[in-house]
Amino acid sequence: MICQEKGKVCSFDCVYCSLGKTTELATRRRVFVPTVLVARELKKVMKKVEADVVTFSGTGEPTLAQNLGEAIKVAKEISGLPIAVLTNSSLMVKEEVRMDLTQADIVIGELDAPNEEVFKRINQPHEGLLLADTIQGMKKFRREFKGKFALEIMFVSENKPFSQELAAIARAIDPDEVQINTPLRPSPIRPLTPEELKEIQRDFEGMNFLSVYEAKKPEVKKAVGLKKLQVLKRVE
Ligand code: SF4
Repeated sequence: MICQEKGKVCSFDCVYCSLGKTTELATRRRVFVPTVLVARELKKVMKKVEADVVTFSGTGEPTLAQNLGEAIKVAKEISGLPIAVLTNSSLMVKEEVRMDLTQADIVIGELDAPNEEVFKRINQPHEGLLLADTIQGMKKFRREFKGKFALEIMFVSENKPFSQELAAIARAIDPDEVQINTPLRPSPIRPLTPEELKEIQRDFEGMNFLSVYEAKKPEVKKAVGLKKLQVLKRVE
């Protein structure tokens, strides 16, 4: 949904991002890939792969795509599969974004910071964005969305000391699942060790959580070029 010839368009420039530096820091929604093209590519891909979910991610933040809701509907019709969206949650405070996301079956929202200072350090957001609004948007979305809502927290050395605060925020948002993650994809940031994540997990006891080191990796079928597959389907 967010495809650019060069670089990445996102409302964040996270220090751990595996896609490299954000080349356009944006919060204004626009159409990047017309829905008709998304439909055409998906039809081609669906003939070549066996999939159990279609995931919207892309080279940037998918909720920046103004036609996200329309594209989700079309993808559902074409694939007959559940639709998942991975988002950094920064635009969930906008009603139109929440409306688009409610078309999906699974939404995985990112939240890495317990306060505005750590938010700026880890996520390096667009200057107009506040963590308080992001949390507010996630709480509203949680109430409105009938599908599965997972909260993903990417733990790095910067937010590791704040795991209790992050667990309290997670409890207040009340997602169906918390995904405790650390950057295992190529990243400029050192991932936390399994022992460090185990320690963090204690703060999430009583919640339905998954830790990246313990989660079973799904098999990614490579019947089409990996590049194209990554645009349409990202398996975490
Ligand atoms: S929100 Fe996702 S795509 Fe954007 S900079 Fe962070 S990790 Fe990268």
